Order: sequence, then structure tokens, then C-alpha cells
Amino acid sequence: MTYQHSYDRSIADPAAFWAEQADHLAWYRKPAQTLVANPDGTHQWFADGQLNSCYLALDHQIEQGRGEQTALIYDSPVTDTRQTYTFVQLRDEVARLAGLLRELGVKQGDGVIIYMPMVPQAAMAMLACARIGAVHSVVFGGFAANELALRIDDARPALLLTASCGLEFDRVIEYKPLVDKALQLATHQPRQVLVLQRPQARAELREGRDLDWQAAVAAASPVPPVALAAGDPLYIMYTSGTTGKPKGIVRENGGNAVALRFALRHIYGMQPGDVWWGISDVGWVVGHSLIVYGPLMNGCTTVFYEGKPIRTPDAAAYWRVVEQYRVNGLFCAPTAMRAIRKEDPQGELFKRHDLSSLRQIFLAGEKLDSSTHQWLEAASGKAVHDHWWQTETGWPVTAPCVGLEGCGVRPGSSNRAVPGYHVRVLDDDGHLLGPNEQGAIVIALPLPPGCSQTLWGDHARYLQAYLHSHPGYYHTGDGGYLDEDGFVYIMGRTDDVINVSGHRLSTGEMEDLVARHPAIAECAVVGVRDEIKGQVPLGLVVLKDGVSLSEQQLQAELVASVREQIGALACFNQVRVVKRLPKTRSGKILRAVLRKIADHQPYTPPSTLDDPAVLAEIEGVLASLARAS
Ligand code: AMP
Repeated sequence: MTYQHSYDRSIADPAAFWAEQADHLAWYRKPAQTLVANPDGTHQWFADGQLNSCYLALDHQIEQGRGEQTALIYDSPVTDTRQTYTFVQLRDEVARLAGLLRELGVKQGDGVIIYMPMVPQAAMAMLACARIGAVHSVVFGGFAANELALRIDDARPALLLTASCGLEFDRVIEYKPLVDKALQLATHQPRQVLVLQRPQARAELREGRDLDWQAAVAAASPVPPVALAAGDPLYIMYTSGTTGKPKGIVRENGGNAVALRFALRHIYGMQPGDVWWGISDVGWVVGHSLIVYGPLMNGCTTVFYEGKPIRTPDAAAYWRVVEQYRVNGLFCAPTAMRAIRKEDPQGELFKRHDLSSLRQIFLAGEKLDSSTHQWLEAASGKAVHDHWWQTETGWPVTAPCVGLEGCGVRPGSSNRAVPGYHVRVLDDDGHLLGPNEQGAIVIALPLPPGCSQTLWGDHARYLQAYLHSHPGYYHTGDGGYLDEDGFVYIMGRTDDVINVSGHRLSTGEMEDLVARHPAIAECAVVGVRDEIKGQVPLGLVVLKDGVSLSEQQLQAELVASVREQIGALACFNQVRVVKRLPKTRSGKILRAVLRKIADHQPYTPPSTLDDPAVLAEIEGVLASLARAS
């Protein structure tokens, strides 16, 4: 299969293309209907098909002869634990946990909240829900009680699963007090709370409501998977928004299974038996698609890592794991690679490990600056691919499809649209733009299988947020352009585009240039108000350890570089050194917040912020700028 042929077919005749892909799955009932359009612009994929995602991930793999293959490798430098589960062992654990859920009264269609650290029981909990048709919603373990309460009230779970604690490299975080507080704040109450006791901190159980996980599972009987309709929800994933009520993205069983089979094989080039490492947390969409469902449904071994890129114990941690488990492919966010680079700028630590099993490295989640890209490629000696997707899509929109011939890669771009995604660029009035013209990146409907078609309990909000602004298109919220060969360049959220004297400029583009400076570990460029020009850019930079360049010297060099690369029209004249940039816990720089601070607009520090003190420093920098001007 060539990339171009697949892509063209997927756009010209999506139903025929995806019917063929769906044929590869072990359905309980094969769908006769592939694609049905709803009057509101959404679509139903494989409407009359029946399947079970847990069956596809476990039982079916065993039937294919992979029962004794390792399904999951748990590697936890924070607890010094290494543990493996074969497909049979994982199926047995999951079947018993599913039996327990049912004994506790969880029914098909019920919500279940999973608030857990990176322990294998979190994956088991997801798969156990899928086995009986319950709808899981994993809430990232780092979220505070208030955020957990918001999700409890939205998902209205029958049951909440948690663990006594999570672990950082230097501390134990008790989860149970957070759960107790969240349940005090929430209006909705799950019937029961199942608590996994970890030896690092034991939780107090509340009589009548809380159950000990290990004891309850030991007493439960295993249950088989149930047949579900393709359109039945598999999970709810709340998006990491910076303000307001979280959006509950709903993923359907059928579309998800078809999409992830396609993605693992044709985008990531993985085959059954390969070892795959999705470096993320189960609390994010990557954890669902690339730690649990994608690899297991494709017969791969999945690495489940409870650690960090650095400090567990050092910046060689990833390379140790790759060598130890002979990892063939991995996914990671650029922020992790920047953290590694900060500690190992010369890439010395890569050389200590045998990385020969690794075929390629995929990065996504935020803009991959070309400096980090080049450094990683040089240090690892591997192909490094940028690709772009969102919680809403659940799988990549643009990527090099390394499993398809002639996919082509272009550094600097997040690559071409994946088969199924008709990516276009529109101007503010909704007109199609041509090559190299910047605008709003949209996807012509129908979205391919796997993409969310609704929000949990609020379909109207889905339509409003994603389909209304440009009829016939899904609105990604990202800005950018396509070049003449169809390679996509994501320049950031549409609100990251700044307007300097009437010129539309991407702060992402400037960041890319700034990040190339050898002294810089990380940076953000924000638009600050300017009386004459509307907005002017400001570079906020974090220096690499040990750099002793003065702020003035650095500013002069960066200003010269942006002036040379983009031009004087960018008006990039200001650079300030800061200790840290405000980020979400998943590592995304909080650009919308930076923009508000820069604009002197009121803002509420988002709950996803990892350290509120960082904002105070930025506010100070901006205040001193304002005084100086
Ligand atoms: P999330 O749903 O939290 O994963 O965030 C999705 C958003 O992250 C996208 O809409 C983009 O703004 C950004 N993003 C993801 N991947 C990339 C990428 N490869 N390059 C630039 N931005 C990205």
C-alpha cells in the first residue's frame, strides 16, 4: 500500500476505504453499514457492528496464539519495581476485576471514574470496564480535588477506582484524602470507592463506602466480554482546557478499534510481537490510544512506565528502558526531550545504552521546535517524527505514515494528513486558502472513525465548539498552513497568532528561532500590547544549566536572529530570562494564560498549572516591561 493511493481513496470514498480496514477486526457482528450521516453534521461509523474492545485487546490476542507473549511491562523506577504480564495473565486479572465491577452493580453504559497513578491496575481497570460495557473516565492523578469533583459531577460514575498514593521521584502523594475531599465537593456520589493499597502509603477506608481492591478482586469471579454496538461509548476523556467546565470527549468502541489498528500499523509501523512504548500517563488521550488500547489490540507488548524523563534517577532513564526491553518504537512529548537535553546537551547518556532495537521516535502534543528535533536526531541516531493530533481525534491527524510506502517526511512540518483526514485551511471568512497561506486548520467532514462525535451529556456543546464555526468542517482550533506538497505546519492555537502592525505573525515561528540559540532550554513568545503596533512579541526564555550569558547579550543575539530570519516586521525586540514557564501537568506551556497576563487581562490560574508560583515571576517581568515603556 502506498501513502498516496491510500490517502486518495480514503478521501474519494471514505466508506469503502474504512469498510476494508474494519474487515481486519474480529467483530462479533461485522457491520453492514459503514457510514451514516446525521442531519446535524456528525456521522456514525459501523452503526450495526458489534464488538468488544477488551476482547480485541486480550482474548482475541490469546486466540491468535499470543497468550504467553508479554502484553504489559510495568517499569517503575520510583518504586524500584519491574513486573511483566503475559496476555493470559492480563486477561485473567481483567476478567476477575470485571466480575467484581459487575458484582458491585456496575452495568453496561454506567460511568466509572479511574483516578490512579501509573500502576498496571489502572490499565486493568480500563479494560475491565470495556469488558462489561461500562464507560471509564480516567482522571489524571495529579488533578486536585476540585477538578476531580467537576468530573465526578459530569460523568456521574457508579463507581470510583483509586489507589492510596502516587509517587514522584522525591515524594509520596496521597490520593485518598483528595478523593474524600472531591466527594465532599461533588453533588453526585458513586456507590462505592475501590482502593488499591500501595505499601508507600496506606489509605484509611471509610466503612460502607470504600473497599480494599486486592481483597475484593481475590473474592470475585471472572466474566467474559459482552457484545457492544460500535457506537457504544468506550470512554470519556476530559480535555485539558485552561478555563471553564471541562469537555467530556466521548470515544466510541467501533471507530476507535478500527482507527487504532490502522494507526499502529500504518502510522507507527508496529507489527504484532513488537515492543511499543507510549510515554505518557493513562490520564491523557495518549495513555488510552498508545499505552492501553492501541498496542494491545495490535498484539504488541506495551511498556507501562511509572517514572520521569529525568531524576528517576537521571536523564538516561528513557534509554535504559529502551535497551532493557528492546523497545521498537516510542511516542513522547517534546517537553520531555527538552528536559533531557537540558541535562545532557551533548547527548553523552545516549551512548551508554544499546538503542539498536529502536526504529523511530514520534513526538506530538505541542510544537516540536527544530532545534530539539535536530538535537534528538543527532544524539539518538534515529528518525524523529513530528505528528499532530488532539484529544478529540484520538489518533494522529497528520503524521509520516511509516508503515505505508512513499509517505515522505519533512522536518519542520508535522507532516501530511493521515488517510481519512481531509485537512484544509480557511481564512476568517471561511474561504479556502492556498498553499503557504496561514489560517484556521479544519478537517472536512466526515471525520474518520475514532474521532469524537459528541461530548458526554452535551451534544449541543459539541456542535457549537467544533462544527458550527465553519459548516461542513471540523474546527481544530489550531492555526497554520499547508505547503504546496500538502505538508502541514501547525503554528499553534489560533489565539497564539499575533497581529503586529497588521501583519499576522506566528509566535510559534519565533519560538522556533529563539529555541535554536545554544543557551536556551525552553521559551515562549507572547504578544504584549503596544500602543502603536497593536501587539509586539516578547520572548520569555529559560536558560540551560550552567549558562552565564547576560540578559542584554542574549537579547541582542536573539533579536538579530529573528530579524534576520523573519524580518524587521516581526518587531521582536524584547527578551526576558525567567526561571520557569507556566505549564500544565502534561507539559504544555500555558500560552493562553501568558497572553492574558501580557494583555493585563484578568485571568484565573488554571487548575492544570503545575506550580502557581511561576505566574508571579512572569507577572513581575511584564510589570517591569510596562514600567520601562
Ligand atoms: P491535547 O488535546 O491536549 O492533546 O492538545 C491538542 C493540541 O496540542 C493541538 O490542538 C495542538 O494545539 C497541540 N499539538 C498537538 N500536537 C502538536 C504538534 N505536533 N505540533 C504542534 N502542536 C501540537
